[in-house]
Amino acid sequence: MKTRRRLALVALFLSCLLIAPTLADSKGKINFPDIPGYKTLKCDFHMHTVFSDGLVWPTVRVDEAYRLGIDAIAITDHIEYQPHKSDVPTNYNRPYEIAAQSAKEKNILLIRAAEITRSTPPGHFNALFLKDINPLDTEDLLKATKAAKAQGAFIFWNHPDWKPDHKGWFEIHTKLYDAGCLNGIEVCNGDGYHLNGHKWAIEKNLTMMGNSDIHAPDISCGHTPEDHRTLTLVFARERTIDAIKDALFDRRTVVWYKNQLIGPQDYLEQLLEQSVAIAPPYYRRGDYVWIEITNNCELDLTVQKLSGQGPISLTLPANAGTTVRVKLDKQQTSLDLSYEVTNCLIGPGKSLPVHLSVPL
Ligand SMILES: [Zn+2]
Ligand SMILES: [Zn+2]
Repeated sequence: MKTRRRLALVALFLSCLLIAPTLADSKGKINFPDIPGYKTLKCDFHMHTVFSDGLVWPTVRVDEAYRLGIDAIAITDHIEYQPHKSDVPTNYNRPYEIAAQSAKEKNILLIRAAEITRSTPPGHFNALFLKDINPLDTEDLLKATKAAKAQGAFIFWNHPDWKPDHKGWFEIHTKLYDAGCLNGIEVCNGDGYHLNGHKWAIEKNLTMMGNSDIHAPDISCGHTPEDHRTLTLVFARERTIDAIKDALFDRRTVVWYKNQLIGPQDYLEQLLEQSVAIAPPYYRRGDYVWIEITNNCELDLTVQKLSGQGPISLTLPANAGTTVRVKLDKQQTSLDLSYEVTNCLIGPGKSLPVHLSVPL
């Protein structure tokens, strides 16, 4: 009897061991709604592994993406900078190949990519959607980017304000741009906002990118509105690598960075329209009505009144509802709200204006 009980306890212990990894590996969710005609994909197009100056094995980047709820990643090891090469031999395509099977099993879209690395200026450039990284290993930057372009790559300029004494748009950048070898630019990289990236994206019609550029294991990254992985939200027709490529060339992106969304006005408006719902008043007393506003996205939205009715300022917490009391004028049939969303940027220091009419 005693032995049987012991055996039962051992069996229970073993079954716990079997279940534990499944629970620890639950898939994360980052909540940004789709917009009309497009899926909102959460993407990180810039990260490193031991194959350059990163500190993790390529499959770890897939595991992290799965845990966080990221749809697509690009492992972008430096071609020209490999401090671990005496331990990990140079083989540009290996990070992708090693991670590919795990990405399939976890339903993470894995993009073959690389970081073309020059001292600043001209700086660093990521090439996405490559077929073979080897032809990019050439001294001349323009030749390297042309080799990427010949494979249909999307190329973007990384962390353009990285070196404060050497930031600027130089002749080589014009050459790359004119040759069609500069399609996007990082507005945000890790915990840095790049003002020039933001300005040049608007001036030169470059796709706005926001990526982690993560080197260490992703253990210090939080899951709060303020503390999260910097990502690019991509508006793609479907959840495929081809659709992401189309979207990037078509500049259908918004950057998610430190509780801010940065992007073209059009896409920010659509994303907010899908995220925020204002219900008709649920209570009236005297001149006052009470309404509930729901915020169905990861941003704590901060809004500031431009004119008219409603509170002067308001924070709509992420993934939550907020109740608001508004004083009405007599015989009013709709409530006209005129606000700016101070943490949605349509340009450097420029908030997204929102004008709404709520029927009473
Ligand atoms: Zn870099
Ligand atoms: Zn990098």
